[in-house]
Amino acid sequence: MAEAALLALLYAQQFSVQLNTPINMCPIEFSREACMSGQHECDWHAFVQNTYHPVTRELTTKKIIINYNHWVKLDPVHRKELMYHELGHCALNLKHVSTIDIMRPRVYSTHKDGSNWDELVERMKATQ
Ligand SMILES: [Zn+2]
Repeated sequence: MAEAALLALLYAQQFSVQLNTPINMCPIEFSREACMSGQHECDWHAFVQNTYHPVTRELTTKKIIINYNHWVKLDPVHRKELMYHELGHCALNLKHVSTIDIMRPRVYSTHKDGSNWDELVERMKATQ
């Protein structure tokens, strides 16, 4: 999993530069847990886990959790899209969209050859 973690970090660095936003509040973790309640059961990709202060209920920490079993099956372009999607939630507070974009849930928008990637990133920048 060390290799996956390194790659995820590389994509996160690229996201930080391209979207011009810090990502230090979004640590990345991989999980081998097959099923997670509330995460589309056993077919989950990744999610942002928020932790709240027990008394004030204020948001204290965020963490991106990636399903390693899903990650290994992805093309490199879709691994990168997955990272940008989760960082979109975590670092930019972006919500889901129904259009063909990085923030579309459950379905990857990047063509397998990556030909529309720059366009998708440009559209993500425009929504900030
Ligand atoms: Zn999402």
